[in-house]
Amino acid sequence: MQVSIPHQGNTIYDVIVIGSGATGLGCALSLKRFGINNFIVIADQENNLDLSSHAKFISALPIENSTRLTQRNGHDAWKSYLEISKRGLDEILKFSNKNGIAAIKGPIHRLSTSRHECDEIYKSNQIWQSLGIPSKLENKFLYNSSNRTVQVHDDCLLRSNVHHIMETAKLEIFEHLHCHEVVQIETSKEFATVRTKDNKSFKSEIIVLANGLGISKLMPEMGDKLIPYQDQWNKFKFNTSPFEIGDWFLIFAQYSLFTLFNDSNESLWICGGRFKRKFEGIGSSTPSLCSRSLQACHSFAQKFLKLEKLEHLCSIALNDINTCDELPIIGPMYGQERILLATGYAGAGIAVGFGAGSCLADLIASGKCLQLDQSLQPSRFQLPD
Ligand SMILES: Cc1cc2nc3c(=O)[nH]c(=O)nc-3n(C[C@H](O)[C@H](O)[C@H](O)COP(=O)(O)OP(=O)(O)OC[C@H]3O[C@@H](n4cnc5c(N)ncnc54)[C@H](O)[C@@H]3O)c2cc1C
Repeated sequence: MQVSIPHQGNTIYDVIVIGSGATGLGCALSLKRFGINNFIVIADQENNLDLSSHAKFISALPIENSTRLTQRNGHDAWKSYLEISKRGLDEILKFSNKNGIAAIKGPIHRLSTSRHECDEIYKSNQIWQSLGIPSKLENKFLYNSSNRTVQVHDDCLLRSNVHHIMETAKLEIFEHLHCHEVVQIETSKEFATVRTKDNKSFKSEIIVLANGLGISKLMPEMGDKLIPYQDQWNKFKFNTSPFEIGDWFLIFAQYSLFTLFNDSNESLWICGGRFKRKFEGIGSSTPSLCSRSLQACHSFAQKFLKLEKLEHLCSIALNDINTCDELPIIGPMYGQERILLATGYAGAGIAVGFGAGSCLADLIASGKCLQLDQSLQPSRFQLPD
């Protein structure tokens, strides 16, 4: 039996954005800036605790594995990824300043913990410099080891109240926000249609899919390209450290197995140990805590950071999304001219997501986006006819 779903009046919106996380908000704010006001944002929870509500910092650099990614996907892909991320960070900083939200810029450090990683860091530094992105090598944290080099990217990190930023952004687009779970999208020559679980339907010229892993349900072709994974943040108290801990914000080490930042002078968060999980936590879309990950972070803090009298305070389990080729997916969906999408930022999604959302708004407003290289677009997965 065919069920007829009531259409919400005769309105045909210019754009429907699905999702109100960093990507959806980045897109919505940019649409407004372009003077495109005939849009709505549909998200499935009214006061949703988006992933970003737990985020502790906003990093402009998807810092992991730059040598591998540039070798495999080319410098243009990496440059585009970084430019979009940097754009997101700059826009968030501007937005915070405009709304009186404190945001402090700080450095990102990448610490080598083995000879092999040290060599990789040297190469990575050359790549960043060849792309004109600030990067230098320093001798910090070199105690007791010749296998330590630190790659530093100044001003690439924003420490702020991420939750506050996201909530303020939602207020700015409040009159466009609708609370529904989208269960189906369809496109025709004339328009696109969005259907919701509570039997509503909305029509628009363009649909922007900014709903994270939910994209794979609405666009099944993307299902095997999006890889959910588990990770966890662990908070520790410590007594002494061999260096001035207040100096640094964020460190990546052991190929980003560990990322950490100081919460105050006496406590720090360490995220990582994800490869210590059963089945490596890959493919799981349900966050759960793992004691081996906690142990790995604890021993990292003791062995590499030389922090003493560590006390575990709490842990947060999380889920995030990577892609099958480790590059985000941003741009028009192939074979679906009314659908744009963006997701797959693997842990750096606040800045990359915000930037990706603005890039989609560029495409909608002017048909082009200077930062967005072809290599990041969904078309890279299109099979030849
Ligand atoms: C605990 C934790 C800590 C993190 N820390 C950091 C950090 O410190 N710095 C950093 O840069 N990144 C961090 N990340 C990663 C970052 O939060 C994500 O990469 C980013 O939020 C992704 O943004 P997004 O807008 O693409 O997706 P999401 O934030 O997941 O937003 C998806 C949106 O889609 C909506 N939605 C989903 N399905 C549907 C549907 N069917 N119908 C309607 N709406 C739907 C959801 O309600 C939500 O509004 C962290 C992630 C976690 C989990």
